[in-house]
Formats: sequence, C-alpha cells, structure tokens
Amino acid sequence: MRVVTSRAEFAEAREGLGGDVGLVPTMGALHEGHASLLRAARGGCTSVVATIFVNPLQFGPGEDLARYPRSLDADLAMCAREGVDLVWAPEVADIYPLGDSRVTVSPGPLGSELEGVVRPGHFTGVLTVVAKFLGLVRPARAFFGEKDYQQLTLIRQLVGDLELRADIVGVPTVREPDGLALSSRNVFLSPTERRAALALSRALAAGAAAAGAAPEVIAAAQAVLTAEPGIELDYLALRGVGLDAVPEHGAARLLVAARVGTTRLIDNTAVQL
Ligand code: AMP
Repeated sequence: MRVVTSRAEFAEAREGLGGDVGLVPTMGALHEGHASLLRAARGGCTSVVATIFVNPLQFGPGEDLARYPRSLDADLAMCAREGVDLVWAPEVADIYPLGDSRVTVSPGPLGSELEGVVRPGHFTGVLTVVAKFLGLVRPARAFFGEKDYQQLTLIRQLVGDLELRADIVGVPTVREPDGLALSSRNVFLSPTERRAALALSRALAAGAAAAGAAPEVIAAAQAVLTAEPGIELDYLALRGVGLDAVPEHGAARLLVAARVGTTRLIDNTAVQL
C-alpha cells in the first residue's frame, strides 16, 4: 500500500494503477462502516484508492470542523488490512490551491431539504469536493454509504446531471449489535447519550415494522422518538427512494436526524408502504 500527501505524488502514483480503479472517499476516523466500503471496492475493482480528507468546505460556521476526530495511523492500518492500493491524505492546500473554490457545485432543490435545512451550504461543499476527487482520481466506480442517504442521492444526481463518468455504488449501513449506526461522531457520546441515541435506530425499525401506509409508519417512528427525552429531533421524514415525493405503495425511505447533547446524528432505513 502506498500513502501519499501532495497532488504531484498522488498523480504519479495514480499513473501506476491498472484496470478499473475504485474510489472510497472518507474524512478519516475510520470504523467498520468505512471498512465495508473498502471491502466492496476491493471486491469489485482492480485497484482501490482511499482518500482521507476532512473537507472544510462542507462544514458551516459553528459546526464541528475543529473537533472532528482524526486518527491517521489507525486509518492507515485499516486501509492496509482491507487491501487498499493507494491512500491519498492531502492537505487542504492540495485540494484548494486557491484557498477556496471559485466554482462550486450547486446541489439543486434537494440540497436545501432535510439536512440542507439545518446545514445550509453543506451539500455544495460535499458535491464540490466529490467532483474534484472524481476528476483527480478518475475512478471507474466510487463507493458511498447509505448511512448518508441524502449525500448518496445527491452524488448520483451530480454524476447523472453533469455527465460524469464514474459508477456510484451505495453500500448498506453498518450498525453496532444494538442498532446504533456506526459514525465517526459516536466517540463524542457519553454513556447516557449513547443510550438516548439508540432511539434513532429503534424509531426507524418501528417505522419499517409498521409496514402500513405513510401515516402509520411515521406515527410508529415518532412514538419512539417522543418517548426519549435525551434527544432533540431535527426531522423525521418519509420520502420516495430518490428522496422525491413519498409513493402511496411500494419502496420508500424513512430518515431521521437529531441532536444528542452536542452531537448531531443521522440515520435512515428502507421501508415498504
Ligand atoms: P465520512 O468519513 O463520514 O465522510 O464517511 C465516508 C463514507 O463512509 C461515506 O460514504 C459514508 O456514507 C460512509 N459511512 C459512514 N458511516 C457508515 C456506516 N455506518 N455504514 C456504511 N457506510 C458508512
């Protein structure tokens, strides 16, 4: 496994990779959710590139950029274990040589819904850095977690609408045995907060188990969230699988976001209406 930092080193190492390149973009603080993405890439591509980059452009003022967890040595050990060929951990100046990006990607209407209501500008930052990495790495396939379902959906829209070349592969959410979705931010949860945070996955499971019409699904999930005083709900939303209007019957997606203490958590699940 090769580990590089600068653009020049990356460009040189990228030239040495043969066949279909799989890209796994991450912000580091890697856990089993990331490992699952790396395994999917390893299984489906000739060469695997992982990027580790905490993208300042996707953090709003007052968000947790400064305290975002960083664990490069452990991250590199995981990448090596999972058979990554090339890790690129650039500095901010490697990705934003002008200090910022003059041109950014406008995410369209979905970018100001759900997460976009609470985090204005977030998806502009995400889509801009993903567009840059797709351009720099030129992967055949890029792998993203369903854990960030709106992000995955918007990246599919980015690639489709702007005629980019990569195939976007969604990977199912990896959870703790008790249901909590793995997240780099879980390290911030105190034991009490961690117990309260379980309401998110329990609410989603209750909604999915309701398997009725939309109002029943929402009511079942809402009841679990209302019963947990330790969380402050940002939204509970039922949408179509493309995060469009919810269908009357068939596959849909139930999404939740809440603050637990000072930590903001999101989760989602497939539901059948
Ligand atoms: P992040 O480092 O948080 O930006 O995440 C990098 C990638 O890992 C994104 O595509 C996430 O959706 C994905 N990811 C994060 N948590 C999980 C999880 N629990 N299961 C599957 N994928 C995940």
